[in-house]
Amino acid sequence: MRMDHMDHFFSKNIALIPGIEPDKIQLLGEELSIYTYEDLLRYYPFRYEERTHRVLITHLGTTTANVTLQGYITKLQKIGGAKKRLVALFQDETGKADLIWFQNFSWIIKKLQPNTLYKIWGKPTFTAPNQLQFIHPEITVLVDKNVDKNQDRPSWFPLYHTTDNLKKNKLDSKGIAALQKKIVTQLQLTTITETLPAYLLTTYRLISLKEAFKYIHFPMNQESLHQSRRRLKFEELFYIQLRLFKMKQIRLEKQASKVFKNLWLFNEFYKKHLPFSLTDDQKKVVRDIYRDLHTGHQMDRLLQGDVGSGKTIVAFLAMLIVVADGGQVAIMAPTEILAKQHYLRFCSFAEPLNLRIALLTGSTKKKERVHMLYQLKAGLLHIIVGTHALLNDEVAFKELAFFVIDEQHRFGVAQRAGLLTKNKCYFPHILIMTATPIPRTLAMTFYGDLAISTIYQLPEGRLPIQTQHYYEKARLRVFKFLSQQLALGRQVYMVYPFIEESALLDYHNLLAGYESVTRAFPAVSIGIIHGKMDYASKDLEMRRFEKNETSILVSTTVIEVGINVPNATVMVIESAERFGLSQMHQLRGRIGRGSAQSYCILMTGYQLNKVSKARIETMVKTTNGFEIAELDLKLRGPGDLMGLKQSGALDLKIADLTTDANILEEARASAKGIIEKDPNFQSPSNLVIHEEYHRLLHVKGSWSRIG
Ligand code: ADP
Ligand code: MG
Repeated sequence: MRMDHMDHFFSKNIALIPGIEPDKIQLLGEELSIYTYEDLLRYYPFRYEERTHRVLITHLGTTTANVTLQGYITKLQKIGGAKKRLVALFQDETGKADLIWFQNFSWIIKKLQPNTLYKIWGKPTFTAPNQLQFIHPEITVLVDKNVDKNQDRPSWFPLYHTTDNLKKNKLDSKGIAALQKKIVTQLQLTTITETLPAYLLTTYRLISLKEAFKYIHFPMNQESLHQSRRRLKFEELFYIQLRLFKMKQIRLEKQASKVFKNLWLFNEFYKKHLPFSLTDDQKKVVRDIYRDLHTGHQMDRLLQGDVGSGKTIVAFLAMLIVVADGGQVAIMAPTEILAKQHYLRFCSFAEPLNLRIALLTGSTKKKERVHMLYQLKAGLLHIIVGTHALLNDEVAFKELAFFVIDEQHRFGVAQRAGLLTKNKCYFPHILIMTATPIPRTLAMTFYGDLAISTIYQLPEGRLPIQTQHYYEKARLRVFKFLSQQLALGRQVYMVYPFIEESALLDYHNLLAGYESVTRAFPAVSIGIIHGKMDYASKDLEMRRFEKNETSILVSTTVIEVGINVPNATVMVIESAERFGLSQMHQLRGRIGRGSAQSYCILMTGYQLNKVSKARIETMVKTTNGFEIAELDLKLRGPGDLMGLKQSGALDLKIADLTTDANILEEARASAKGIIEKDPNFQSPSNLVIHEEYHRLLHVKGSWSRIG
């Protein structure tokens, strides 16, 4: 059967590569997890060295770049002394050069013959005018003169990552290339079956798998390299997308939930008590959610919207639909301060509706908690607001129908799974809200099976925040500006970096900052808040600032998420070069929440590296969270973002989410179409998909982390 050929070839043990030594076989497994032909073929070069066609010695000039020469060895001598070396005189039709080796003489002597045309590749050094040397050049026999004489295209050499251990055993980049050459050559003589169906190759103009493997390791030119990369990236992304759509389909079939469509409570609030009118984007999200609650399948929706875009009210409106049909709702916030703030806001919204709401955090008193948990279980509470404490086993509901997770920047797959067990009858609907917009490519790759709603616009009447960058020497000017703003009755945040690794130093800087601000503004009341304080003191400080009892709040990034004090219109970020881009944007979202003009001031030292500079410039240039998220992705690479590195989900072998958005879109569109038309890959044209999909399911580790 034709499949046999393919399986056979790719699953061959590398021990079958002609001439490979046993210790190399073992090392490749240990160091690079390469066991089969496929493992090796998919160990792609990280870069290529372009070797241009031959140069004549007389044309060398003073170049110091690597060059290729062609000529004969006319003399060979060993020069003794402490620094023993082998010197070969090399000549082409225009000049001569010394080739010098300090090691491996006997092997090289054996290789060098008179009257043989050689090609050498190396770095020229001129010890004197006309005294040309190459130290340890690469040298190969030119078998067919004519072919190479006419050859004027560059040749490309693959470079592979390797390890010290491998290098010691002749498996440096060149050694790996030699193995690749062997199996690529074998592959060209073998019949293999595609991993992508013919109609996809045609539609997207992709080269065959065989060609792709050939050119990814040994490209002829830029174009063949490009085509092979495109083909392999497409394949990689296509099967990930296919898997995501498939999982979504399976979930839709399995995870039945309850239908919620009673709108009386919603309408009551919407028509009589909504404190403002919704933006168009907010309305659209409410409709998205309403539609989800209708389907009988579990909702699993991500709501992303920049800081201040008004996600909370959307969540509250959705809650009303669920509560009206007897469901209970939980909303989880990342910090106690934020949970408390939500609680107070919900209480004021819900007052005319007679809803019962409670707040559960780590510092809820025991007696209060016991009572609350009883009420929750008995179904006497409609909405419970809290922190991670909500996930504890002791928190049981009568009918948990809807769970909202606020300000989620990290993957909460495990948490989500835990939630699902809190309702024994059906899967509760889930809404995850985030102000860290997820760049499109990441969202498609990792939340591919999740529905996404986005709020792009901010409520009307907000003035864009003005952001400026100052060096330390401008501090007096900055303080002068602060006093002008304070005189207008505004409040100010001053934020200091705080990182675990440098915790003590950061703590001292924070205190020193607090002192210097106290000295600079003796008549102003100033608060301080940081991670080392207990919740009660933090809460107290926060409330003083909220009530405008303090005018300046000196703090660490504990204020990063969610806090809402519209009268605070100035934020100074100290040592801004130490903050990440998305983090600064989050912080900046604490201001610009009222109708007055807000200002964000980034203070830095003088020594800014390229990346810090780019971050600061971006902050000054734009307040658009989506633009910032995209740039952050470019500056940091996807791995750092949102804790993805730890999740292992980013184990892409060749595709790059920062640059391959177009290929991803194509792969996604085709995967989606296939799942819709032929979900079990039964049509003859999809046979190869069926085979490859199930093969990948069984390949160790391939997809273990997805979803
Ligand atoms: P975030 O999306 O960052 O969680 P919030 O939900 O906290 O934003 O909303 C920010 C502020 O904007 C709140 O004070 C909220 O009441 C207000 N707000 C929300 N939607 C609107 C709207 N459509 N018009 C006016 N103000 C709004
Ligand atoms: Mg919020």
